[in-house]
Amino acid sequence: MNDVLSTEDIDRIAAEASESETPETLAAALVAAVDDGRLADAADAGYALTVAAEITADTDEPEVAIALAERAIEACERSGDTSTSHPSAIRADALFLAGREEEAMTQLAVLRERLTEDPDAAMLVGEVLVANGQAEVAEEWLTEALDTVLERHDQLESSDPAYDDVAMITFEVLQARHGVRHELGLEHDEYDDLADEMMAELEDSLDDGPVVLFFPEPEFDEALRRWPDLAADHGATWDDHRAITEQELRLRAEHGTTSLATIPATANALATFATTSGSEDPDIPTLEAYRDSLIDSGTPQTPWPPGRNDPCWCGSQAKYKKCCLPRA
Ligand SMILES: [Zn+2]
Ligand SMILES: [Zn+2]
Repeated sequence: MNDVLSTEDIDRIAAEASESETPETLAAALVAAVDDGRLADAADAGYALTVAAEITADTDEPEVAIALAERAIEACERSGDTSTSHPSAIRADALFLAGREEEAMTQLAVLRERLTEDPDAAMLVGEVLVANGQAEVAEEWLTEALDTVLERHDQLESSDPAYDDVAMITFEVLQARHGVRHELGLEHDEYDDLADEMMAELEDSLDDGPVVLFFPEPEFDEALRRWPDLAADHGATWDDHRAITEQELRLRAEHGTTSLATIPATANALATFATTSGSEDPDIPTLEAYRDSLIDSGTPQTPWPPGRNDPCWCGSQAKYKKCCLPRA
């Protein structure tokens, strides 16, 4: 029990806890590792305490869970983790369980401020409010946040660097609001129709198989030079391109696609492929056909995801957890 805990160990404990007969032992092991300085990466303290708080919240010990969530929030802030939405939501939920409703709502009011900034916040706030009999409040907050993000979304060109982030937050707020409204038994409004449409589109795009086309850095720069329009879907910079690719892979993983991998594109080969297939510009069908041709010809693929401490899939040589993992 005095082992050093790696990030993967914490992931494993989080996954095991719901099945465990003695979840409180797992939570205690996490807290002890933090207290004794036995984390392989000291920056994981916030994560370990968040998992401990979450496990404890399920064991009818709300006051203990509240204290752990508070420690988790502090630890995240100390290590420069910008988002404390997850431990904040656990704290709010545990405060409700402990009968401290006013404090719970005060905590949620803090999360409400992040609805238009943090893509995780909408689902967390919606779930905690619905679980504690406050679905109407959730509907009101999420509708207000949706108006704000849609307005921002409408003002941006798709080439704007902020576009993808705003699109993602819009999607998350839309889906969280839709879920809450279903819970309340409300009739579909136009935003609910939009939520269903976007989810259906996403599901279609996920039927696209496990292999994602990826441009290594010099190839991406060359491809953008030749086809500036690629920026709209593939990123205005290589960093954007990596982030978009990571997001795409993560979405497919969340959808149950397994054996995910990237396959490297080269600008020259793409140009040749586009010419022989009779299209001047590498539009989406051309890019998909090019990807399929690379798969068929046995081009080596890079499996995704790597371990958090392994070299990143993008080829940067940096650890995954310091490179593309936080980009999504
Ligand atoms: Zn619906
Ligand atoms: Zn990377």
